[in-house]
Amino acid sequence: MSKLIDRIIPDPVRCITGISAYEAEGGFRALKKAARAGPDFVIEEIVRAGLRGRGGAGFPTGRKWAAVAEDTATPKYIICNADEGEPGTFKDRLILEKNPFLLIEGMALAAFTVKAGVGYIYLRGEYPALFHLLEDVIAQCRKKGYIGPDFMGTGADLELYVHRGAGAYICGEETAMIESLEGKRGQPRSRPPYTVNYGYMGKPTLASNVETFANVPIILNIGAESYSKIGSPESPGPKLFSVSGDVVRPGVYELPMGVPLSEIIYEHCGGIKGGRALKAVIPGGVSTAVLRSDDLACRMDFTSKCEGSMGIIGSGAVIVFDEETCMVHTAYRIAKFFAHESCGKCTPCREGTDWIRAILLRMEQGLGVEDDIRLLREVCGNIAGNSFCALGDSAAISTIGFLDKFGDEFEAHIKGKTCPFGGPV
Ligand code: SF4
Repeated sequence: MSKLIDRIIPDPVRCITGISAYEAEGGFRALKKAARAGPDFVIEEIVRAGLRGRGGAGFPTGRKWAAVAEDTATPKYIICNADEGEPGTFKDRLILEKNPFLLIEGMALAAFTVKAGVGYIYLRGEYPALFHLLEDVIAQCRKKGYIGPDFMGTGADLELYVHRGAGAYICGEETAMIESLEGKRGQPRSRPPYTVNYGYMGKPTLASNVETFANVPIILNIGAESYSKIGSPESPGPKLFSVSGDVVRPGVYELPMGVPLSEIIYEHCGGIKGGRALKAVIPGGVSTAVLRSDDLACRMDFTSKCEGSMGIIGSGAVIVFDEETCMVHTAYRIAKFFAHESCGKCTPCREGTDWIRAILLRMEQGLGVEDDIRLLREVCGNIAGNSFCALGDSAAISTIGFLDKFGDEFEAHIKGKTCPFGGPV
C-alpha cells in the first residue's frame, strides 16, 4: 500500500476500531474544524478539492452536498452506500474493517453540512461481521458526543443506523437502495426527481459511497489545495483499487487517481503469477469492458479512455487474467452474474441477460452454432440503451467487449466444438 498523506487505510495489518486510537491519530479533527468554520466552508472545501464520488459514476461530490444543503424541505437524510457487490470489488470492506471511524466522521460532517438528522449505513448482506463492528463504532461515537443530539455542540443532531441488505446487487444502485430501505422491493426508480431532492421517504437525501464519505475528513485535514494536487487534475485525490486474479500480490491498494493500469499490475502487484504472460484485464469491475494486454497505458481516473473502452475506472476493481484463461468462460461467468442479478423490472434486461448467459453457456459446452456471435451482438444491441438502469447496459458492454477483443476465441469454440484451453465441455 502506498503512503499518501492522511491515508484512508491506516496500514496493511492494523485496524483502528477503538475511538481513543482514532482520536490519537487526529481523528475528528476535521469535524471540529467544520464545527468552527460552518457548513458553507465544508462545501467550498469539497468543491475546491474536486472530489468525485467513488462509487463508480464520478459525480462531483460538492455539487451533490450543495444541492441537499440548499433544499429547504425537512427532514433530510444521509445514506452511506456500503452495498459493494460487484465481483472483484472489496475496497469499501477494507475501510469498514480497518478505519470505520473515518466513515462515521465523514457522515457526521455530511449531516452537519446538509442539516440531516438521521443517517443509514446500507451494509452489504454478505458482510455480517461488519454489522456488529459498525454498531459498536457508532455506540462509541455516540458516547463521546461525536454523533447524537447536538453533537460537538454544533446544534445539529445525528442518529445513525446500520441496515443490512439481503444480497441483491441491484440495491447498490442508489434509488433501488432507497426503495429497499423503505421496506419495498429493491428496484430502481425513474429519475428525475433526483435523490438530492426526493430520496428516502420522498425527502432530500444525500447518498454516497463509503470511500466518498471517507475522503471528506482527509480534505478538511490537509486542505483542499493539497488534496487537489494528489492524482490527476480532472479526478483528484487518492483512490482505493481492489486487485484480484492472476497477479503475484492481489489486494487493496491506495494510489493516486490517474495511476497507469500497467503500474498497478506490474509495480504494485508484482506482475503475473507463475511467470506467465498477461492476457486481459477488466479495469474497473465487471461493468467495464475487458482490455487486451497491449491496452494498459491508460490512466485510472474518471476521464481517461482506453482503446474501445469508455469509463474504465468503474468501482476500482482490477481483475487480471493470464494467458491460460478462457475468455468465453470468463464472459459466461460475468453474464451469469448479470442474469442472476437482473431485478426483472424491464424486459430488455430481464430477458436479454438470460439470453446472453444461455448462448455463452452453449458455446462453452461445445454446442455453439455459427450464428451465435451475430445473435449475441443483436441481443446486446437490444439491451444497450433500452434498459431502465445501468445494469442492463453493463451486461451488454461486458459481452460486446469480450467479442470485440477476443472474437477469435469465440470462433474457435464454435468451430472446434470444444474449449481450446481445456475448459468445461
Ligand atoms: Fe432491473 Fe435490469 Fe431493468 Fe435495471 S436494467 S431495472 S436491473 S431489469
